[in-house]
Amino acid sequence: MKDVSEIFGSMVFNDKVMSERLPKDVYKALKRTIEAGKSLDRKIADVVACAMKDWALEKGATHYTHWFQPMTGITAEKHDSFISPKSDGTVIMEFSGKELIQGEPDASSFPSGGLRATFEARGYTAWDPTSYAFIKDDTLCIPTAFCSFGGQALDKKTPLLRSMEAINKQSLRILRLFGNYDIKSVTTTVGPEQEYFLIDKELYEKRKDLIFCGRTLFGARPPKGQELEDHYFCAIKPRVKAFMAELDNELWKLGILAKTEHNEVAPAQHELAPIYTTTNIAADHNQLTMEIMKKVALRHGLVCLLHEKPFAGVNGNGKHNNWSLKTDTGVNLLEPGDSPSENAQFLLFLTAVIKAVDEYQDLIRLSVATAGNDHRLGAHEAPPAIVSMFMGDDLLSVLEAIESGSAYVQKNKQEMQIGVHVLPRFFRDTTDRNRTSPFAFTGNKFEFRMPGSSLSVSGPNIILNTIVAEQLSLFADILESSDNFQTDLLNLIRNTITQHKRIIFNGNNYSEEWVKEAEKRGLLNLPSTVDALPYFVSDKNIRLFEKHKVFSEQEIRSRYEILLENYCKVINIEALTMLDIARKEIFPAVMSYIRDLSQTAILKSQLIPDISCDMEKTLVDKLSALCASFYNKTEMLSNALLNTKSQTDLYKCAKYYKETVLAAMRETRAVADEMELLTDKKYWPFPTFSDLLFKI
Ligand code: ADP
Ligand code: MG
Repeated sequence: MKDVSEIFGSMVFNDKVMSERLPKDVYKALKRTIEAGKSLDRKIADVVACAMKDWALEKGATHYTHWFQPMTGITAEKHDSFISPKSDGTVIMEFSGKELIQGEPDASSFPSGGLRATFEARGYTAWDPTSYAFIKDDTLCIPTAFCSFGGQALDKKTPLLRSMEAINKQSLRILRLFGNYDIKSVTTTVGPEQEYFLIDKELYEKRKDLIFCGRTLFGARPPKGQELEDHYFCAIKPRVKAFMAELDNELWKLGILAKTEHNEVAPAQHELAPIYTTTNIAADHNQLTMEIMKKVALRHGLVCLLHEKPFAGVNGNGKHNNWSLKTDTGVNLLEPGDSPSENAQFLLFLTAVIKAVDEYQDLIRLSVATAGNDHRLGAHEAPPAIVSMFMGDDLLSVLEAIESGSAYVQKNKQEMQIGVHVLPRFFRDTTDRNRTSPFAFTGNKFEFRMPGSSLSVSGPNIILNTIVAEQLSLFADILESSDNFQTDLLNLIRNTITQHKRIIFNGNNYSEEWVKEAEKRGLLNLPSTVDALPYFVSDKNIRLFEKHKVFSEQEIRSRYEILLENYCKVINIEALTMLDIARKEIFPAVMSYIRDLSQTAILKSQLIPDISCDMEKTLVDKLSALCASFYNKTEMLSNALLNTKSQTDLYKCAKYYKETVLAAMRETRAVADEMELLTDKKYWPFPTFSDLLFKI
């Protein structure tokens, strides 16, 4: 194997390549564009495009594409070759600045939530120079934003970039108040931990539910699940190890900082964590990571499942979104500092996040709301649907001391007086862990654990960036007009803690008591997507997004519609798949088994007239009853699906899917799973959970 440092980034048109291949003045102009978000001159763009093309051709590329992230949640690409005809019947390879900067895919079939009437279907893609171009499958990919000609965002990248700009602006206002004039920009950083399952491809192909829905719709619990906790961090099997090695290699080529690979809690479940980077790039990289995981798995005869809940009864897949703020001078703003002044600044940012999460629980919750994630949130292993924050005992006692104005006593250390001018100096306690919290402070960053594994991280980070930007802007409004900074600062921190401490919960988020306690505290509990989504279009939230120029009202309403529509479509596909499997596979299989059991009883009594056939009769009786019930349930499901056609209101339709269709699906499944346990394995028409989870 080649040296990793040689492989790393070898398929990326990164800063090193640019500085080597571009004329000095062009390189400088491009850097200015990247750093200051300035628009790029066409002449410069031509030079950059030409250098990019030459580099790509050397690497074997034949095509280029504007790579973008429409509202489908996955990425899109339309390949164009570099060829350009010459008069002598030959071709040359060309790529212009115009082609680099802007593209016009015929994008009429992407979800737009009514934003883009089909008569003006053309959207355009615009180069995002803050994310490097790269080569994938012999194609030069140019990361781009995707907008309508009216300027409305049709993708996930545009609002993410806008939200990063919003938090940059407001953070700088705060930093100036602390005398930090050397800092020119603040970016948010993200490290998304990606969970996934690997199963055998041959088995996968025998299950229509996995093929169409990415999750199993039927399946009885195997005798062994994850209760022994013997899969978590255990030695990695050779086939999986080979997959991980190749995955790392592919990701490194694309400059993706794949770092940690390990087995997760459920059998056949694994995790990959990269080293964190700027949010925009982390989002691009995570999309690529998911795509490449699937591709590499196939080369190993495996299928990678990224669904939030591929198997009932064992853990689902999450994507922990580790999030922090970093200055261009390299300071992590969520790192407790060494001096009281640094700590005051830290506490101000920290309380801004606390206030943001408390005031916008609805947005936090709905930022991770999908049909798939509904199966995971609130299940036992996953964070509940109630948003709360974990602070760790040490930090919590600091906050309590500030609030009450009393002395702060650190564990086994000296006590510290909290005066008006001096905020406490404290040390972070890295041993603190709370695996059940949906939003945990982990020493120098927050770990948001609610996102589902297949989700683009853009959604949750757009929300996080915007709601924190809002609090920072309110804080800056107060402090900028203050005559007594120290006093007002302390009061602000103190009042914020008092008003928002209800969101802090260090206990067990999975417990029943917490649900009751949270209700007492007035916290929101939005168990499903349908409960959460309407909050997107509340006046308060529309005002928020408009104030920070992250979404226009029109964009919010269109996204709301896309999300609701997607929810309905996903459940519709699942229900149809379920009916298909039930009628064409499960029902005939169980009937065959019943017939053979009956045949056995008849043959036995022909051979020995008085022999007992009680066992066969009992089993035939049981299975026949289950089959009858199964038939009724499928009819019920089928009728429920028919009724969705008469729903005219999108929200009501989604609610109907949740309350009626999903309920019918659950009942149908329960009967099938019971039959599976009673049916001879050789009759069962597809691989069981035991096969899928334990045969790698
Ligand atoms: P754990 O499983 O204990 O939560 P991991 O090492 O699996 O820890 O994941 C931690 C993730 O947090 C990594 O992706 C890491 O790069 C990321 N991370 C660390 N510091 C920051 C930061 N300042 N901002 C964003 N992400 C961070
Ligand atoms: Mg982790």
